Amino acid sequence: MSTQQQQKSPQPKEQVVQLYQGAKRIQPKMAKGRFANLRILVILATQFVFYVIPWFNWSGRQAVLFDIPARRFYLFGITLVPGDLIYLTGLLLVSAFGLFWWTTIAGRLWCGYACPQTVYTEIMLWIDRLVEGERNQRLKLDKELWNLRKIRIKLTKYLLIFAVCAWTGITFAGWFTPIRQFVPDIFQFNASGGALFAAAFYGVMTWLFAHIMREQVCKYMCPYARFQSAMFDQDTLIISYDAERGEPRGARKKSLTEAQLAEMGDCINCTQCVQVCPVGIDIRDGLQYECIGCAACIDACDEIMDKMNYPRGLIRYTTEAVLEHKYTDKDFVKRLKRPRVLGYGVVLVLAVIGLLFGLATRETLKVDVIKDRGVMVRENKQGWLENAYNLRIVNASEQEQVVEVKVSGFDEIALGGVPEGGFKAPGGQTITVPVQVSTIPEYADKGSHPIKFEFTYHNPSEQEKTRHTIVEDASFIGE
Ligand code: SF4
Ligand code: SF4
Repeated sequence: MSTQQQQKSPQPKEQVVQLYQGAKRIQPKMAKGRFANLRILVILATQFVFYVIPWFNWSGRQAVLFDIPARRFYLFGITLVPGDLIYLTGLLLVSAFGLFWWTTIAGRLWCGYACPQTVYTEIMLWIDRLVEGERNQRLKLDKELWNLRKIRIKLTKYLLIFAVCAWTGITFAGWFTPIRQFVPDIFQFNASGGALFAAAFYGVMTWLFAHIMREQVCKYMCPYARFQSAMFDQDTLIISYDAERGEPRGARKKSLTEAQLAEMGDCINCTQCVQVCPVGIDIRDGLQYECIGCAACIDACDEIMDKMNYPRGLIRYTTEAVLEHKYTDKDFVKRLKRPRVLGYGVVLVLAVIGLLFGLATRETLKVDVIKDRGVMVRENKQGWLENAYNLRIVNASEQEQVVEVKVSGFDEIALGGVPEGGFKAPGGQTITVPVQVSTIPEYADKGSHPIKFEFTYHNPSEQEKTRHTIVEDASFIGE
């Protein structure tokens, strides 16, 4: 390239790459209709569980309490100890497969109705509406310069938000610490630091996620939103705009002729579906990953269709295959028999059966035989060889249990340290009982010999004493 050419070639323009996309505050309009009502019901049900259940008592103790310092989970009379983690794993498996199964059938139902992010965002929107009014009033207020009225309204709103977030945080901590004691302790400045930190942390997170970040959490942070498309297929229910029916869209102007009106689709381009959308998208642009499946646009559009005397369902729950005319909406139920749905369903049913069976046959007494390392072997007064053990007994029930112990392994073997008729293991507690096992020296030559401890336990207050037996292996060290 000549020097002249080099001089003529244009200088490359400086390009600015935006790594952060500024987000405009979305002020959705409130949708009214079947799905909005359904969401209110689900919010009430889930929040009843969250806010009210910790206040229930069961057998004189908080019905549901995850007591992490004591390593005990109490669930309506069932006490789970660290050895029961398998049941919590089972519960997680059931929840996960339940979610996979449901997502394959009905898409983002969880996101749209029950996810805490959706639920708390909706609660914050209720407060917005209650204090600042409907969408147009909120938009107007935001544009207004600061004045006494605006300060009063914003202050009222933030006080309400603070109250909701604070109570949410306190309730959250109340799942992990006895709430009936924790709440009065807060007001007496006597609450434990750990519980206060948990309450403050959860309260701040509720405010940050549900009031400040809102749809940004679903768009950019939620991992479930990312991987759930892997569970979708062309028969999964999605919320979709029926473009064939709706286009060409347009307002019904009085100036239009009959022929022009006849050529138009059913969408009157009122943008109601966009105004109610909490993530600020236009469903008419097609399926978008930002859509959380809240169905607010269905309610909004159905209302318009009713006013226009058009059939409902321009925006509706449907499937990709229906939109491609592979079958009709009515045949959706038949498509539930597809391999993916059946596969997830079978695993889910098996997981539920396994979990229920495990819980029904679960031993409420956990025992651990721990060899006393300080005393390997010794000779007792009788001249027999003796080993010492500690029996760690965890009573994972609310009731006292009477525990009897036997030992076997040699033709002649004796157990010391356990009173006649057994010992008592108080409900929900762990006790350690030191015992001694002895045998005549001829049976136990040098090395390790297998022995068995047999624990039989029953609840002494039960009329009919149902006895349960647990066998634990141990070793006896010979001379
Ligand atoms: S609400 Fe219905 S009619 Fe109105 S713009 Fe949306 S799709 Fe069109
Ligand atoms: S597009 Fe419709 S269903 Fe999706 S988030 Fe917006 S309002 Fe909800």
